[in-house]
Amino acid sequence: MKEIKLHDKVFVPYIGKERIAQAVKKVAREIETYAQDDQIVFVSILKGAFVFSSDLLKHYRKNASIEFYRLKSYEGTSSTGNVEIIVDIDAKLITGKKVVVIEDIIDTGNTLEKIISELKKKKPADLKIASLFLKPEVYNKEYEVDFVGMEIPNKFIVGYGLDYNELGRNIPEIYVLKQRKMVDVVLFGPPGAGKGTQAQILKDKLGLTYIATGDLFRHHIKNQTKLGKKAKEYIDKGNLVPDEITIGMIEEIVKDPNSHGFIFDGFPRTVKQAEVLDKLLKDKDLIIDALLFLDVPDERIIKRLVERGKTSGRSDDNEETIKHRLNQYHNFTEPVKDYYKKQNKFYKIDGVGDIDEINQRLLDVIKNLKLQVRD
Ligand code: AMP
Repeated sequence: MKEIKLHDKVFVPYIGKERIAQAVKKVAREIETYAQDDQIVFVSILKGAFVFSSDLLKHYRKNASIEFYRLKSYEGTSSTGNVEIIVDIDAKLITGKKVVVIEDIIDTGNTLEKIISELKKKKPADLKIASLFLKPEVYNKEYEVDFVGMEIPNKFIVGYGLDYNELGRNIPEIYVLKQRKMVDVVLFGPPGAGKGTQAQILKDKLGLTYIATGDLFRHHIKNQTKLGKKAKEYIDKGNLVPDEITIGMIEEIVKDPNSHGFIFDGFPRTVKQAEVLDKLLKDKDLIIDALLFLDVPDERIIKRLVERGKTSGRSDDNEETIKHRLNQYHNFTEPVKDYYKKQNKFYKIDGVGDIDEINQRLLDVIKNLKLQVRD
């Protein structure tokens, strides 16, 4: 696949010339219909829309004039979304005219809002917006964009006038930021299998984001949050926290777009959670690559947890609750294995032995997944 590098990032082909040309023609035809017998004043928004504007005008078969408008948005200050006008248009060119703004892409709609409010001050007879691309997932304004070439998902694109830090505008097609192939794994096994210990080491070695639902719950309990109060009832008895509560908590975290991949510990613990996790990741073009099952027999688990209970301070590390947790594990959590077996993602690792040895076993499996885990 053709790849291009702009500054520090790699982009791959996404939307070809043909599809772009079709979208441009579609918008041109729609504007012709709208114009009827009136002469349109196009307002091209610099810099991004210069290529689209040029092609759009070549396909537009009625009389029209074109003006250029340039705004600059400032970010990084407390007042994000601040937009300043750099190149303005003389009001008399617009007043009483049918105006069509030409945008390359509309995402949140912040810039668009500013454009509309500024241009309306110049009293056009009518004001419409044409954009080659629209990101419906992030567009959050009420104004309905009048002419849209095509809708696209919330991806970072360049080419055909669009840039990444000023580069890429000259590429005749649309390229998209290449997703680094990350590794997302679930560390699985009965309570006390050593998931937490192993996950901590793997996280540091592989630069993954570590998510342990048990730790998250304990954090909420310690801080006496609403969620913590709800979860405590279940945890103290060795029961699973209901899926709605657990899933709600995970959703917030998986949203993090900057993660280099996740290592999940203690999640998913039910088949329902596994299904939801797949869906959440899919929405972000991600996928669980492996379920790493740390195999430790029950007798050993009970011994380990009773031992841990002496120092952990955990309210659920007493013998009776431990046995109940193990039951819960066998009844509700073990079926999660089959869910991943069906997807050919199940890996069983001997969880008995020296910590470093077990870690090496896990790393060997991850490396064999043949995924690049760092930049
Ligand atoms: P852990 O630290 O993983 O042993 O989790 C401690 C307790 O937190 C469990 O016994 C459950 O009560 C609760 N818990 C942790 N993760 C989940 C989950 N994914 N679903 C339901 N309950 C959970």
